[in-house]
Amino acid sequence: MAIINNKNVSQADLLAEALYESEIKFRTLTESAAVGIFLYRERFLYVNPAFEAITCYKLEELKGRYLWDIVHPDFKDLVKERALARLRGENPPAHYEVKIITKDGKEKWLEVTAAVFEQEGKVVGIGTAVDITKQKLFAQRLEETLAKYQAILNAFEGLIYAVSPFFEIHFANRKLKEKCSQELGGKTCYQVLYHREQPCPWCVNEKVLKGEVVQKEIFVPRENRWYQVVSTPLYYPSGARFALHLLVDITPQKRAQEELLRTTKLESLALLAGGIAHDFNNFLTAILGNLTLLRLKARLSPKEEKLLRQAEKACLKAQGLTKQLLTFAKGGSPIKKTAPLEELLRETISFCLRGSQIDWHLEVDDDLFLVDIDTVQFGQVISNLVINAKQAMPQGGNLWVKARNLILKEARGPLPSGKYVELVFKDEGSGIPAKYLNKIFDPYFTTKKDGSGLGLAICYSIVKKHGGYIEVESEEGKGALFRIYLPASDKERVASPRLKQQEIFKGHGHVLVFDDEESVRETLREALEMAGFKVEVAGEGHEALAKLQEANQRGDPFDLAILDLTVPGGLGGKELLPALKQLKPDLKTILMSGYPTEEKKPFGFDAFLKKPFSIPELYATVKKVLYG
Ligand code: ADP
Repeated sequence: MAIINNKNVSQADLLAEALYESEIKFRTLTESAAVGIFLYRERFLYVNPAFEAITCYKLEELKGRYLWDIVHPDFKDLVKERALARLRGENPPAHYEVKIITKDGKEKWLEVTAAVFEQEGKVVGIGTAVDITKQKLFAQRLEETLAKYQAILNAFEGLIYAVSPFFEIHFANRKLKEKCSQELGGKTCYQVLYHREQPCPWCVNEKVLKGEVVQKEIFVPRENRWYQVVSTPLYYPSGARFALHLLVDITPQKRAQEELLRTTKLESLALLAGGIAHDFNNFLTAILGNLTLLRLKARLSPKEEKLLRQAEKACLKAQGLTKQLLTFAKGGSPIKKTAPLEELLRETISFCLRGSQIDWHLEVDDDLFLVDIDTVQFGQVISNLVINAKQAMPQGGNLWVKARNLILKEARGPLPSGKYVELVFKDEGSGIPAKYLNKIFDPYFTTKKDGSGLGLAICYSIVKKHGGYIEVESEEGKGALFRIYLPASDKERVASPRLKQQEIFKGHGHVLVFDDEESVRETLREALEMAGFKVEVAGEGHEALAKLQEANQRGDPFDLAILDLTVPGGLGGKELLPALKQLKPDLKTILMSGYPTEEKKPFGFDAFLKKPFSIPELYATVKKVLYG
């Protein structure tokens, strides 16, 4: 805006006019600018109204004060250093953020840009200041919020991740990154998390991206683990959409539920087994005994011999089954003794794999802890596992069995901390499909044409009764691995007694046999008569008492009574014993029962015979009781 336009004006007037004009332009610009502007030479020379508004100081109040007087102590030195350097003609950073303290004592953040120019031969500093306090506070809040979310994400014991509509992982918490041991950003969830080529069959992304919240339990076969998943939509204000998934590992709870169910099933089986085991054992004792007697007595043709052998074989199988069933029955609680495992492992494995095409390898820790086990029951566990491995490898293969010491410093699953023996059976067989992994320990679950589905249920039950735990790892086509944890014994190593060779037995004396089952009575009669005894039998308690009385009166008293423990609805051996002893105090007595007992001389009897028993076992017991 020219205010002088006269041809007669001097050069000086023109200069003054230009200066005035520029001064007016500068003022108009600075006075109306929204950005704070200040001029300084160490001290403030000029500040515009916007600067006044930011600092709450008037120009008059600032004039004569050093530039750094209004700067926050944290930045004072920096501002002073840079301002002076700039005035000296140096070139410190021209752009920076500082904190000031306003006249009313408030802290404010300014974004400052500084430069210099020359005026009347002097260097003058000029700066602009923008109040960025709001942005700074916002950024700080954002950082705090981010830190909070990060802390929550990372403290969460489960897994968290969000995926785009194209299954790309948008973010994941630390737990998940550790689990996958790789950076996950941008990779697809089904590939890196679930190792699949296609989206997972249980994927709910589509529903969630549409706004649904979905909760479900999923089973991940590869990990053999269960997860509770909550999936929820995550929408950004920008319009970007993600599905947020929170996964909690619920495998321990699932296993506990399964165990409860399994235990209930086992208990009902126990009831059934307990009910039939008594009768079953009686029949079996009679059948086995009679077969032995037949072989001893009769001269058999090779054909008859073959038939007999087949019958014996079937009996032995039935005996095995009773033993297995009895494991479930009340009386099946283990009769534990402290034993080393190695011998039992070696003998059982070699027995089960004799003549097969399986190569087996046994590795046992030196100084393996001793365990308190029922060797008969635990032998069953070993043979069930070995037979399963053999059946899973019909063309042959390797079976590795390892036993090692394990000290658990803290509880693992259902096992409390302590000393354990860990047994591993690993085969190269057909493996177990993921869908069956949770079922194989259930009674009656089998995938075999002629399987009973009892083998692993029995293993489970026996191991549990020993205070241990059994678990499986397997993938279809990749073999199976069974792991057993057995609590170690605190007892000292003792020599394991070996079975004595049976001797041919000839005795003499008068024996009373009492059993409600005729076949048992008659088998025992035959066997004892063959050994040279005079035998009388009784099928009922009062009859037994009467026979004893008669024998006493005849002057031909009994030397030995072999009595059955339980007789349905009548006097059993236990009840009879005092009366018999009263009639003949020096009478020797043997108790028979299908239920095992830990005692060698239960209820005051001189010995115990566990049904079913073999004739040599009967002879050995009779010999011991009568002749020591
Ligand atoms: P059974 O042998 O009578 O079928 P089990 O309880 O011993 O009963 O086994 C249950 C099921 O577990 C088997 O039918 C089989 O499918 C599976 N199984 C057990 N052990 C193995 C193994 N070592 N390899 C593959 N499958 C196995």
